[in-house]
Amino acid sequence: SSSIKVPTLKMLDGREMPALALGTYLGFDKDGVVQPKNKEIRDIALQAIDIGYRHFDTASVYGTEADIGEAIRMKIAEGVIKREHVFVTTKLWNTAHKPDQVLPAFMDSLNKTGLDYIDLYLMHWPIGLNEDNSISDVDYMETWRAMEKIQKSGLAKSIGVANFNKEQLRRVISEGSVKPVALQIEVHLQMIQTELLELCKSEGIIVQGYSPFGSLVMRFGFQYPGPKFDDPTLVSIAQKYGKTTAQVVLRWAVDRNVVPLPKTVSPKRLAENLNIFDFKLEPKEIEEINKFNSNTRYTLPSFWQENTYYPFEKVENPISDPFKS
Ligand code: NDP
Repeated sequence: SSSIKVPTLKMLDGREMPALALGTYLGFDKDGVVQPKNKEIRDIALQAIDIGYRHFDTASVYGTEADIGEAIRMKIAEGVIKREHVFVTTKLWNTAHKPDQVLPAFMDSLNKTGLDYIDLYLMHWPIGLNEDNSISDVDYMETWRAMEKIQKSGLAKSIGVANFNKEQLRRVISEGSVKPVALQIEVHLQMIQTELLELCKSEGIIVQGYSPFGSLVMRFGFQYPGPKFDDPTLVSIAQKYGKTTAQVVLRWAVDRNVVPLPKTVSPKRLAENLNIFDFKLEPKEIEEINKFNSNTRYTLPSFWQENTYYPFEKVENPISDPFKS
C-alpha cells in the first residue's frame, strides 16, 4: 500500500513539525537500564519510514538514538527520503544540566544518530541531577541558556522543554532569549492537560503528548484502572468512523492540536497508529472523551520531589529511585 502523508504544524521559529511521532521509549528493565533489543528499534523505524512516519521521538536516556539515526541514514541512502523530510526529537538528560555539560551531551546524542543536525532538542526535565543521581540545584534557566547556544549553532534547529509546569514554562518564556517551540508532556484520556494546552496555544507553543494510550495499555506490568480499548464510549465513536479505538484516541489528541507520540514495536500497530489522517472528531465527541479526565499521571518521579524544580504535585509516600541501584 502507498504511504500516508502526515500533516505538519508550524512552529514559532517558522519550521514545520509532523503532527505525529513514533515513540521509542522501551521502559526500564529491573536494573534501571534501558536495553533496546538488537536491531528491533532500527527495523521498526525502517518500516515506519516506508509507510509514512516522518517524526521520531527519542532521548539520550532511552538508548534508541543510534537505532533511529541508522534507520534514517539507511532510508536516505536508499533514496526513500531526504534528511529534511524527517524530523528527529531528542532530549538532554538530567545529569547534564550544568551549562558546561550541555554541549558535550548534545554532541554525544548527535554523534549517536550519525546525522548532521537534530530537529528538536528538548530539556527532558526541569530537574538537574549529579553524576550519582543525587539531586542537584542547578537552575534550568542556566541549562536553557546553554541550549540556546546550540540552537544558534544550527546543530539543533529548534529547542524546547518537557515536563515543565505552567510556572516553569512561563519563566522560560519571560527570562529566556529564545522561546521554546514545544512542550512535551503526558497527555491521554485521564490527563487531558487543559490548562497547559491553553497556555501553549496562547504562546504559539506546540504540545507533544506522551503516553497517548494512558490506561488503555499495561504499564510496567500493571493494568491500571481507567478506560480500556473496549470502552463503550470509545467503541461507539470508533464504529461511526470505521476506525479502531486506538485510532480514535490518537485522533482525539490530533484534534486538540497535540502531537501524539505512540510507541509500538509491532508492524501491525505501527500502521494502525499512523492511519488517523482521513477522519476528524466532532467537537461534541472531543468533549465526551475529555470526561475521562482524572488527572492521573503514569510518569510521576516522586523520588525527585525534594528538588526545588520538581514540576508536579508532591505525594505522601515517594517511590524509590529506579536510577539508583
Ligand atoms: P504509549 O501510550 O505509546 O503506549 C505504548 C504501549 O501501547 C505499548 O505497550 C504498545 O505495545 C502498545 N500499543 C501501541 N499501539 C497500540 C495499538 N494500536 N493498540 C494496542 N496497543 C498498542 O506509551 P509510552 O509511555 O511509551 O509513551 C509513548 C512515547 O512517549 C515514548 O515511547 C516516548 O517516546 C515518549 N515519552 C516521553 C516521556 C517524557 O518524559 N518526555 C515519558 C514517557 C514517554 P506494542 O509495542 O507491543 O505495540
